[in-house]
Amino acid sequence: MPELTLPLVAGSSLPVAQTYDNVDPADGAVIGQVARAGAAEVDQAVRAAAHAQPAWAATPTEQRADALTRLAALVDRDREQLARTESQDTGKPLSQARADATVAARYFRYYGRVVEAAYGDTIPLGPDTHVYTRHEPYGVVGCIVAWNYPLQLASRSIAAATATGNAVVLKPADETPRTAVALAALALEAGLPEGVVNVVPGLGAEAGAALTAHPQVAHLGFVGSTETGRLVAHAAAERVVPAVLELGGKSAHVVFPDADLEAAAEAVTRSILQNAGQTCSAGSRLVVHEDVRAELVAAVADRFRATTLGAGLDDPDLGPLVSRRQQERVRGYVEGVSSGDLVVGGSAPPEDSTLAGGAFWLPTLIDGVDPQDPIAQEEVFGPVLVTLPFQDEAEALALANGTAYGLIAALWTRDLSRAHRLAGSLEAGQVFVNTFGAGGGVELPFGGVKASGYGREKGVEALAGFTRTKTVVVRLS
Ligand code: NAD
Repeated sequence: MPELTLPLVAGSSLPVAQTYDNVDPADGAVIGQVARAGAAEVDQAVRAAAHAQPAWAATPTEQRADALTRLAALVDRDREQLARTESQDTGKPLSQARADATVAARYFRYYGRVVEAAYGDTIPLGPDTHVYTRHEPYGVVGCIVAWNYPLQLASRSIAAATATGNAVVLKPADETPRTAVALAALALEAGLPEGVVNVVPGLGAEAGAALTAHPQVAHLGFVGSTETGRLVAHAAAERVVPAVLELGGKSAHVVFPDADLEAAAEAVTRSILQNAGQTCSAGSRLVVHEDVRAELVAAVADRFRATTLGAGLDDPDLGPLVSRRQQERVRGYVEGVSSGDLVVGGSAPPEDSTLAGGAFWLPTLIDGVDPQDPIAQEEVFGPVLVTLPFQDEAEALALANGTAYGLIAALWTRDLSRAHRLAGSLEAGQVFVNTFGAGGGVELPFGGVKASGYGREKGVEALAGFTRTKTVVVRLS
């Protein structure tokens, strides 16, 4: 009997008439069926959330925090099973899926802790008035997330939203619904009341669109592509509700000649091969000074050649892409490039014939591409790195800022004045100096500028994101 993934609404599984295949990207096998929920199931979930939310918001903060801390412990307890499911659904190497589960637990622990220290302000308007602010939950929060880090993305939204007294309806990505449903079951076990966390799997244009249009959803959180983000923002505008959009990226490493090149080569490699390059904050552009270009390209190419490929559950360096569709998308970019030198990779399939049925792509490095080439401008979402050489700081900055996106960026230099000067000028939501990586830093406010979106998740800032401020003015005399 193939596994059937159903919505979890008000603490119970919801039967759904239609299903679609859950496909293992490592070999194309159908590993289960997923409920194709639609507007009716979304409506049921939103009603359940609306019913549960007032009592949850009225629960003392300490008790909400305790429930989230218990949920963190349950995610830790089930880490191996969650990681295996995540690895099979996404194709990502098992050790990366384990790390994702650890970060997921950390979100619940972190927001369980910090929410108890959150409070409003008093404002000194005058001796005859007492003015204070309250940070109130929105009510029902709708979250729609992508397939690349399903467990992490679901956890970061659910943790901050429920910590602040909201109830959640989450629509996981079409390809990766299972760990989100498992998380909702763990939330119940941890003592979050029925209806506070609801998960409705289905297709984006059906369940996703229904969630964005539902009149009782008071806040929308979206993680996905810029194209879909625009649709979500339109739907939010129609109903005049706020949206937080965490969208794509084309993040750059900017490497100066005085950098620690070994450290840079290591981070550049990791940041584009992690999750097969299917990371919003992947370091997909290497903006490198001409003086160290050859050395750095050679160091990264050596690491690319040494990469092992295989099914995620076998824990190689690099698993398959999430789907054949994604593989074709990567192929389109790599075969369509009209500039630069292919140093390693390309569109040849892996030599190992056992990988033939999977959505694999070899690590690919193309040196010296035209900065306007689509492969240097658009999000490829595969293990594909392009280099863009520069001569001086101004050119480096222009190249780094020269795409529609602005998610994260990294500077590699020993010159601290230059690092701080450029950190202020880079168009990005996060800037790293001599390091790279946003994934695990649950404490770090995260989000984009330009086409990478708006609003911030993670960190204490997310508490403000999931609440609205009410100002209360009391006349004293
Ligand atoms: P996508 O936009 O295709 O889908 C994202 C989610 O939106 C899915 O759950 C999908 O079912 C849903 N959706 C699709 N159409 C919809 C509609 N009309 N209405 C409502 N929902 C709809 O993106 P994807 O391919 O799943 O994910 C990859 C993208 O996500 C990349 O661009 C990546 O950079 C981005 N991403 C961003 C972050 C971040 O935090 N900034 C994190 C991870 C991924």
